[in-house]
Amino acid sequence: MPTRVWDYQAEYEKERADLLDAVETVFGSGQLVLGPSVRSFETEFAAWHGVGHCVGVDNGTNAIKLGLQAIGVKPGDEVITVSNTAAPTVVAIDAVGATPVFVDVNEDDFLMDVSKVEAAITERTSCLLPVHLYGQCVDVEALTALAGDLDLALLEDCAQAHGARRNGKLAGSFGDAAAFSFYPTKVLGAYGDGGATVTSDETTAQNLRRLRYYGMEERYYVVETPGHNSRLDEVQAEILRRKLRRLDDYVAGRQAVAARYSEGLGDTGLVLPKVNEGNEHVYYVYVVRHPQRDEIIERLKGYDIHLNISYPWPVHTMTGFAHLGWEKGSLPVTERLAGEIFSLPMYPSLSEDVQDKVISALREVLETL
Ligand SMILES: *Cc1c(COP(=O)(O)O)cnc(C)c1O
Repeated sequence: MPTRVWDYQAEYEKERADLLDAVETVFGSGQLVLGPSVRSFETEFAAWHGVGHCVGVDNGTNAIKLGLQAIGVKPGDEVITVSNTAAPTVVAIDAVGATPVFVDVNEDDFLMDVSKVEAAITERTSCLLPVHLYGQCVDVEALTALAGDLDLALLEDCAQAHGARRNGKLAGSFGDAAAFSFYPTKVLGAYGDGGATVTSDETTAQNLRRLRYYGMEERYYVVETPGHNSRLDEVQAEILRRKLRRLDDYVAGRQAVAARYSEGLGDTGLVLPKVNEGNEHVYYVYVVRHPQRDEIIERLKGYDIHLNISYPWPVHTMTGFAHLGWEKGSLPVTERLAGEIFSLPMYPSLSEDVQDKVISALREVLETL
């Protein structure tokens, strides 16, 4: 069996009865769209985060898009984010007609360099959009302070940070709203697509509910502002309810894998993930850094180990965003990282045998580079 960065089959075997019962529950309920499972999941997910509201949507990209619209980001506004992220962060900004403005990331944790944000603010800036990348929080308090002082909105991209904490507070509880993805690989993953936007503001929550439902308050009501059809699927919601009860275990499983990697690879010359003071990292991905990254990845294929890069193309260098005018060299840390980082296999059901196989293969490759 080839080793890949992610696989859900072992987890499915273990949880199969519960997951199939979730499907049965929905199919037998008589309500297939926006029914009791979506409502319950929303209540439970909001409570889990200690926020007032959760609105389930169809995927993480739309959770960001609807989140931006719900907190008042308009076409022509500027939204400050990072280029070292999954492309959908930026695609969602583009989808609301706003302009993404990138700041560079830190050399040690690869997260938004918050000291660069103030200089990027213009009179068109309406929102800050930090990404809690790889599973740990950005220095978000600095951003909430800035957003408060300058009357800017703050939306957290939590697609990789379910259960991550900073100074005891959960990712998703800092901003005006926060967007989650339940894409299957995520820390809380569905068996298909799903997403949610959380907020403690009643008006924002109402906006979100309308935006995901054509722009309607309720069925057959008048559309005042046209919205979208971006509903969370009822079956996925019921699966997510079951999996939410196990989220702490998934996080603990990922942290155990990370601890084993860090133990086994600490003396190899690989740069290992840096966890910032006050942060609890949930290791959506375990990202390491080495200047000979491409050769390492190539040689590991000889051990039948196939690794990923999160992410090989900084978003500002993608052709679809060339019109924004970000020259090569404009975000030097982000650009350098993209050539040196790679991700090791990471999921809670990853066996210790496979972890050890990855560690010993990497050690062999690094010794003979
Ligand atoms: C996965 C991801 C998204 C998009 O989520 P989808 O559910 O795939 O649409 C957005 N931002 C980040 C940082 C992600 O990792």
